Amino acid sequence: MEIQTIYKGKYDVIVVGGGIAGVAAAVSAARNGASVLLVEKQVNLGGLATMGLISWYEPLCDGKGQQMIYGIAEELIRLSAKYCFDNLPAQWGGTSGNPPKHPSSPRFSTLFSPTVFSAALDEFVLDSGARIRFDSRATWPVMEGNVCRGIIVESVSGAELFEAKAIVDATGDATVMHRAGVPTVEGENYLTYLVHMYDTDGAKKLAETGNTVAFRRWMNRGSNLEGHGHPQGMGMLKGVTAEEVTDYILTGKQMMLDYLKTLDRGSYDVMTLPSMPQFRKIRRIVGKCDFTAVDGRTFADSIGDCGDFRSQGIGNHYQIPFGALYNEKFPNLLAAGRIISAPDGDGWEVARVIPTCALTGEAAGKAAAMLAVQGVPLEKCY
Ligand SMILES: Cc1cc2nc3c(=O)[nH]c(=O)nc-3n(C[C@H](O)[C@H](O)[C@H](O)COP(=O)(O)OP(=O)(O)OC[C@H]3O[C@@H](n4cnc5c(N)ncnc54)[C@H](O)[C@@H]3O)c2cc1C
Repeated sequence: MEIQTIYKGKYDVIVVGGGIAGVAAAVSAARNGASVLLVEKQVNLGGLATMGLISWYEPLCDGKGQQMIYGIAEELIRLSAKYCFDNLPAQWGGTSGNPPKHPSSPRFSTLFSPTVFSAALDEFVLDSGARIRFDSRATWPVMEGNVCRGIIVESVSGAELFEAKAIVDATGDATVMHRAGVPTVEGENYLTYLVHMYDTDGAKKLAETGNTVAFRRWMNRGSNLEGHGHPQGMGMLKGVTAEEVTDYILTGKQMMLDYLKTLDRGSYDVMTLPSMPQFRKIRRIVGKCDFTAVDGRTFADSIGDCGDFRSQGIGNHYQIPFGALYNEKFPNLLAAGRIISAPDGDGWEVARVIPTCALTGEAAGKAAAMLAVQGVPLEKCY
């Protein structure tokens, strides 16, 4: 049977993946004059940050009082608190009166409601002029040599072809660039299964203090960052096969049920399950150069500085090179978010958190617009 592909027209920029990086890229490209389509396989924006229930915006500052990341990353942290609680410290503009997570060393970070933030992201993207297409999975890039002419998208409408002059891959697993032939590297993950619940204790605290943050409880039955809690006998997971993803999700849910059996079943409810697997590092590109997170190192093509969310990195300033967002053999493909060229170790660890994803997303979107609208060669688009 021959599969019909319906032609759906041409955009300057297509952004694949509506996580934090994809949202930042789409808005940035639209603000820089491009016609933009944002393609998201789920029906909500925010990716891991919202659908993955992460909901903790790591800091925009260096931990010593200096803000490091501005632009869309800052707009997004404020948007995360626009329609619901925030627990930003007052010195960073916190308004809800909820106490900051680290009262002794208040950083420019906040908890946020994943559901409310996700809905606010729709508004943010649409206000920029970019268009959103939900429930649409980008399957294959259409390649002419190493130039990407467009994307095949599969949805309830069937298989559709969207042409574009530049494409930003913000899929979190480099699906588009990997399938286009860009060299990639796979990550390794412990199992984390994080859900949000509430219980009678939280309800009492809310009633006593009026602190809405106290109500929602983050419950992780899997591993922490260091591997404590990873199921015994289970190897490291990459997240690049459907079998592995299924195993990950089923094991995580079973661990949650085993835990719930130990509770008084009349005392809680689980509010939300994650609607995407909580792998930290799935696949990243091999770029023109690497972001390795070296304190104080400078780059001629720097797109900005980020800090380090981990306590051992307090005060560090890491410059991110634009060369980590593309592979020089592919003239119109850009990476954004946790798939940039950041080798395992400090680089990938710092590149994958929400503020850095917003920063690389903004840079990728601006570059895609420069390429598509002004015809600037990719290596000069920073
Ligand atoms: C357990 C865990 C804890 C974490 N804790 C924190 C934390 O406390 N603070 C913090 O700042 N960061 C944290 N992070 C990291 C951070 O949340 C993510 O790395 C970051 O949000 C990734 O953003 P992204 O946009 O690059 O990718 P993603 O969030 O993965 O977004 C990718 C988007 O692309 C879509 N997509 C994928 N493939 C396709 C396709 N083919 N077609 C269309 N759409 C597609 C997906 O549905 C998704 O919406 C944590 C991560 C994990 C896993």
